Amino acid sequence: MIIARTIKEVRENIGEWRREGLSVGLVPTMGYLHEGHASLVDRARAECGKVVVSDFVNPTQFAPNEDLEAYPRDFEHDCNLLEEHGCDMVFYPSVGEMYAPNAATYVEILDEMPKQLCGKTRPIHFRGVCTVVSKLFNIVQPDKAFFGQKDAQQLAVIRRMVRDLSYGIEIVGCPIVRESDGLAKSSRNTYLNAEERKAALVLSKAVFRGEELVRSGVTDSGKILAEMTEIISAEPLAKIDYISAADGETILPADEITDGVLVAVAVYIGKTRLIDNFIAGGLK
Ligand code: AMP
Repeated sequence: MIIARTIKEVRENIGEWRREGLSVGLVPTMGYLHEGHASLVDRARAECGKVVVSDFVNPTQFAPNEDLEAYPRDFEHDCNLLEEHGCDMVFYPSVGEMYAPNAATYVEILDEMPKQLCGKTRPIHFRGVCTVVSKLFNIVQPDKAFFGQKDAQQLAVIRRMVRDLSYGIEIVGCPIVRESDGLAKSSRNTYLNAEERKAALVLSKAVFRGEELVRSGVTDSGKILAEMTEIISAEPLAKIDYISAADGETILPADEITDGVLVAVAVYIGKTRLIDNFIAGGLK
């Protein structure tokens, strides 16, 4: 596996692969990799000639009060996991390699979409995500890029950016990978102590119950969100950020649950903010 720390090295290797006629898949990550990330790499491996994974904790998507400094990092572990899953190149740039000291150009969706759900408490988050992903798209120029449904709003935002800016890149959404007890895998789960880890199960419990209600034919989002709220509120360590139903493409509120509607939750367990969701009728 090639470890590339500079944009130049990435471009040189991709140029070579292109000359050989190979397709390229990109999996953007912030590192501290787990089986959720690995599932994206496996999918890219199955669909593309060469697989590039970026491993970069992107400062522009964190607000000053968020966990940029504390965000877990373990590059050696990441390399081992990536090698096991057949990644061809990991792009591991420094902040200085990605952002010039006076970088001031951003990619931002100027409508309601990035202000919904996670955007309410994280107002600059999706601007940072769009900016870094658009830079990665320019650097790697992949045929396909792979994103998890775990971050469903992010997936919708990226699809929108790709459409609006005419990137010729296919965006592939991949299902949520969970721990055996249901908790969605996340690099941030490492922040949880034993008691919080148990409490965190209310997210998946609520998501599974919501999914069950939808499968049984309930379409009133009010009723579904109320039951989910009840499950999460019963946990003393949980503080709800939001529990919402939204159109899967526009992320605007949805009153009726039809196929493609996203039902998403964000909950603080102690100081750790966790997210989970389901998509009615499954991920398309
Ligand atoms: P992150 O490193 O958290 O920025 O995530 C990088 C990519 O992995 C994003 O597209 C995430 O949606 C995806 N991802 C993270 N956790 C999971 C999971 N549990 N299941 C599937 N995809 C995931």
